[in-house]
Amino acid sequence: MTEPNKNAVENTTATPSDFIRDIVTQHVAEKRYPLIHTRFPPEPNGYLHIGHAKSICLNFGIAREFGGVCNLRMDDTNPTKEDIEYVESIQEDVNWLISGWANDRLGLKPKGKTPEVTNTNGSPDFILPATTNNDQPASNSEPFYASDYFNQLFEYAVALIRKGKAFVCDLTPDETDEYRRHAKESPFRNRSVEESLDLFARMKAGEFPDGTRTLRAKIDVASPNIWLRDPLIYRIRHAEHHHTGAQWCIYPMYDFAHCLSDYIESITHSICTLEFEVHRPLYDWILESLGLSRLLPKQYEFARLSLGYTVMSKRKLMQLVNEGLVTGWDDPRRPTICGIRRRGVTPEALRNFAYNIGITKYNGLTDVAVLEHAIREDLNKRALRRLVVLRPIKVVITNLDAGRTEELDAVNNPEDENAGKRKIPFSRELYIERDDFAEVPPPKYFRLRPGGEVRLKYAFIIKCDEVVKDAAGKITELRCTADFESKSGGANAGRKVKGTIHWVSATHSVEAEVRLYDRLFTVPEPDAEGDFKRHINPHSLEVVAARCEPSLKEADPRMRYQFERLAYFALDKESMPGKLVFNRTITLKDNWAKEAPRS
Ligand code: ATP
Ligand code: MG
Repeated sequence: MTEPNKNAVENTTATPSDFIRDIVTQHVAEKRYPLIHTRFPPEPNGYLHIGHAKSICLNFGIAREFGGVCNLRMDDTNPTKEDIEYVESIQEDVNWLISGWANDRLGLKPKGKTPEVTNTNGSPDFILPATTNNDQPASNSEPFYASDYFNQLFEYAVALIRKGKAFVCDLTPDETDEYRRHAKESPFRNRSVEESLDLFARMKAGEFPDGTRTLRAKIDVASPNIWLRDPLIYRIRHAEHHHTGAQWCIYPMYDFAHCLSDYIESITHSICTLEFEVHRPLYDWILESLGLSRLLPKQYEFARLSLGYTVMSKRKLMQLVNEGLVTGWDDPRRPTICGIRRRGVTPEALRNFAYNIGITKYNGLTDVAVLEHAIREDLNKRALRRLVVLRPIKVVITNLDAGRTEELDAVNNPEDENAGKRKIPFSRELYIERDDFAEVPPPKYFRLRPGGEVRLKYAFIIKCDEVVKDAAGKITELRCTADFESKSGGANAGRKVKGTIHWVSATHSVEAEVRLYDRLFTVPEPDAEGDFKRHINPHSLEVVAARCEPSLKEADPRMRYQFERLAYFALDKESMPGKLVFNRTITLKDNWAKEAPRS
């Protein structure tokens, strides 16, 4: 059995360059940090999608290029929306995407242990020693959790109150919004430090119901930046948390937890998408207000990925699942990382895509053709070529005895010498593609026709002598003669015919369910006009019963295949011994290039 093609297929052009890497390069030159330390901080409230892949490739890419570490951290401060199911899927998706590339740059912690956060100098100045995947077996490690720092975050909040930079506020959530919108001071803003400390301790102790009190930073109620208008930093939520259980009934807000988790983990470059640009002054304010002793992390923003013919919002992805319009999170038509993986895309292709699109500060729509190009380029180099007939029609070779089999040589991959050769059987009864025969051929049709000739790939030229039909007029078989001297090495090897088609031996072939996937939406921006579900492509999945050359009996889920003249395929997870199921990863060419209306 051929091993997966190891020398495929990473874009090895020099490391990418963009404004964030320029900044990191500068910092490395200045020796500003002992270690470049990034993080990827998903909230475990859904499955990762290709937008997250861009962020993963950026954060892990930087760690890899600059000899640093990238932490995988669950940004899990909102107990009601989060779930362990998502934690697990996120870890699996990240591991898959960086496999063979930056695994040794992955910051994880020992499984089941709360990391040891040390207090360096008496004041709340916590540090978590850097660990990477190298330090423990992968099976025994897990991501960091912001919720592991709830104790430290609480102490930081207390420190802010002591400094007169935070206060407990008794306004309701609606009132708080209202006051902030109108740049109005809370009547509780000037309550004493002692009173706030007491109330905050009692919030933690569970004395007050949800929504009755919050802890707010005391910054500037009149700031033009609404995020600085005394933002909430803690709220009461009597809710179980997937990681900390019933331990807490107050939870920190994203803005408070994020910068401090970065600090605790000694993150140097905290990279996020542009919508957080307006939060950056708050990120800096919190860290600076605490008078911390170590170097502070800095936030940098880049444009998020929006991809044509796709919806990416978690809410809409969820809606498609709930309404049964797709089969699940890992439906191969979806932009989720697990869907893309199931479809047969390799991590290398996805990483090349992420590198190709680059990192900028301008939001825009990325053409899905860019993704498809990266996938084709990758699969062209690694895919084993195989003969498969999707919609079979029978061909009988009348000048070959039944029971006789010719074993023919076929190369596995013209792009990769090491992939070797295999034998394919040729016998009296074959299948060819229904589309490769036309009784009344259109102009410039070079495939098989009554009285015409065509070459069978890796085999002989055949001539169609007779078209056999049933009583209803449906073609049941094509009776043909083969020129056995027309194979390479034969006396008529030089004989030219215009068309070459694929085929399989009927008796030797194996059946497979083949799932032909296409884009899920018919328009580039399904979100732009009205209900996105109106634009679902009714032809996004077609299932056919195909006939495959016998070597595919041993198809391997790690391998990728090109069914010659058709498309690239990979085994689906539902495939079993005796029941092959293949997913079409992508067609050989871009059928959408002309954007022709589909019938
Ligand atoms: P939501 O805020 O709706 O829960 P999210 O897409 O922001 O969803 P997070 O889990 O918070 O999801 O994202 C984790 C990281 O991935 C963040 O740093 C975020 O900036 C980044 N990210 C999310 N979506 C994209 C995208 N489309 N392109 C690039 N990066 C993204
Ligand atoms: Mg988010």
